[in-house]
Amino acid sequence: MMPLTELGLRAMIGTVAKRVIEHTEQLTALDAAIGDGDHGINMKRGVEAVLADIDGLSTKSLSESLKAIGLILVMKVGGASGPLYGTLLMAFGRELCDAPDRAAVTKAFGAAVQAVKARGKSDTGAKTMLDVLVPVLQTLETGGDELAARVRTKAEQSAAATAPMKATRGRASFLGDRSIGHVDPGARSSALMIGAVCDVLEERREP
Ligand code: ADP
Ligand code: MG
Repeated sequence: MMPLTELGLRAMIGTVAKRVIEHTEQLTALDAAIGDGDHGINMKRGVEAVLADIDGLSTKSLSESLKAIGLILVMKVGGASGPLYGTLLMAFGRELCDAPDRAAVTKAFGAAVQAVKARGKSDTGAKTMLDVLVPVLQTLETGGDELAARVRTKAEQSAAATAPMKATRGRASFLGDRSIGHVDPGARSSALMIGAVCDVLEERREP
């Protein structure tokens, strides 16, 4: 994989942030159904803080940029998801070299997902963002052609597949069986952000 240039990193950060902001209401509605209705607002506040520093963030190395974005999300998103997304990106940044090949990205993402599991004392099947992050990791591990497109599809399908699950972690778990029938907001925001990253990777045409 070619190293992300400043332009590439800027496109990545900008596209992910825009995707989250465009879906603020959808994420809020999902969280209103099985949580406290703040996930869209929380995520919007976080990515707006990232956008405010896009000049500084996109001139850092990939690893340093991910760590810095993680820290901003911890400070600005709040709720359960802020520390968890912050942990994901900080661990990803810590593990990643600056011109990673596919195997290095997969290994670093695996360590990052593991860090989220530890931080949230959770795993797949609890109706959380991990029900998207883990299947995406498995798709990366499988590898093959058209990987960005397959990762995007896997993320979308996995988020949708949280609807019939019963939440056993996070605020939605307070609802018990009444959490069944709704997509998990954090699973949805994970799929949105991963989809945005895949879009940029597919479109990227850099020298
Ligand atoms: P809060 O629940 O504190 O209001 P948010 O609404 O911002 O925080 O985020 C809720 C999302 O966080 C959930 O939809 C779920 O995906 C994720 N989440 C909550 N607890 C956990 C956990 N223990 N492990 C992984 N993800 C979690
Ligand atoms: Mg909430």
